[in-house]
Amino acid sequence: MLLSYYCSTCKKKNYLKYKVKDRFELQNKIGDELNKHCDSCGTLKKKHINRLHAEPNRYIGLIALAIASILTLTVWYYRFIATLAFTIPIWIYFDAYKTASDFNKIKVARKN
Ligand SMILES: [Zn+2]
Repeated sequence: MLLSYYCSTCKKKNYLKYKVKDRFELQNKIGDELNKHCDSCGTLKKKHINRLHAEPNRYIGLIALAIASILTLTVWYYRFIATLAFTIPIWIYFDAYKTASDFNKIKVARKN
């Protein structure tokens, strides 16, 4: 999770490095107000911690995508295996059926 706020002077987004679960934890760490120089314009502004905005980690999208890909591949792989497991017996059955059928169709010339 990333904490951010918009600088009131230059309107640029600033990110904070605090690793906290909620505002209470942040309050315990830094108090009620944040005193930080803006990353873009350097202006020192007090910002109440209630005005900080949290957003999910930027990598969470990539992680979700990776998990989705793995799941898709796994499902595809198992479907492939399932297809084989289903197809091979049918193929064996039809091959055996065809062999028998060919045996029955082809007759030797009678000698008498
Ligand atoms: Zn600024």
